[in-house]
Amino acid sequence: MVRRRSTRRIATSPPPDPPYLWSSGKLVPWAEATVHVSALAWTGVSAVFEGIRAYWNQGEEEMYIFRLQSHLHRLLDSMKLMRMSSPYSPSELTTAIMDLLKANQVREDTYIMPLAYFGGSVPGYKAAYQQPGEVLITTRPLASNARSNRGSHCCISSWVRISDNVMSPRAKSISNYQNSRLVSTEAQINGYDAGIILNPQGKVAEGAYACVFLVRDGVAITPGVTAGILEGITRDTVIRLFRDVLRMPVEERDVDRTELYVAEEAFFCGTYFEIEPIVSVDRYLVGSGRPGPLTRKLRRLYQGIVRGEDRGYTQWQTPVWHSS
Ligand SMILES: *Cc1c(COP(=O)(O)O)cnc(C)c1O
Repeated sequence: MVRRRSTRRIATSPPPDPPYLWSSGKLVPWAEATVHVSALAWTGVSAVFEGIRAYWNQGEEEMYIFRLQSHLHRLLDSMKLMRMSSPYSPSELTTAIMDLLKANQVREDTYIMPLAYFGGSVPGYKAAYQQPGEVLITTRPLASNARSNRGSHCCISSWVRISDNVMSPRAKSISNYQNSRLVSTEAQINGYDAGIILNPQGKVAEGAYACVFLVRDGVAITPGVTAGILEGITRDTVIRLFRDVLRMPVEERDVDRTELYVAEEAFFCGTYFEIEPIVSVDRYLVGSGRPGPLTRKLRRLYQGIVRGEDRGYTQWQTPVWHSS
């Protein structure tokens, strides 16, 4: 067989599985954490989750989990919206995540995913609420996107964002991702990198997996929390950085699609994507069609903060290895 030499990791070969995951109170060897195949269809319907990043700081030989308490707070809110009670408090979940990172000997940028679901044989379409949820936590190596500076070419999706009286976008729920998947698939089939979704009122909601910001005339603008968005933690971080560090006003308000066409800068933000420049929308160039100066500045600031190099935000950091 002829092997092609490649400097890039092949997308279809994921990194090796970590040694352990955490399942409802116990560290379990990865390979032993199995369920019966017949549970496949329904368990995800009521499941909610969090995506959390932890960053490796080489100088300090330390892992920093970014805004862990905000993520755990939102996980419990998502469970509440599903009428799922949590057997675990935020401090128990914090301990669980720390134990798991240590058991997996994690010393690189990592994605932590707690998943809460109804276990046993409860079908996901049933009105399950009497039994408490189960919680599963996994960790996977995931390099930061900080070094790519390409930017996304986006379209306005023909799909409409789910709304609060249908399936609340406020819950970080697995089922809500059907909406996101339709948007990103459509965008990619049509030759774009990502889609931006309008809400039923015709205003900008967010990207498929990330919140949206734009900059016009020295003002940072982002759709408000009732616009059909997931209330992003990165969005909150970015609002604070605009106000406290860049000394710019931030407006949380309705956004028209054409405001994106005439924006000087625009970007997505989310735990997974971090800060991702938007360079065109429906083939209208955003600004010069390259990542804007404020977007680039925010990315640098964000990297310094999440990695614990900027010491001004230690309240957002949970150190793993040198914790008491
Ligand atoms: C997770 C998520 C985001 C980003 O939220 P963060 O808290 O910043 O990670 C945005 N939109 C959707 C639909 C999401 O699921």
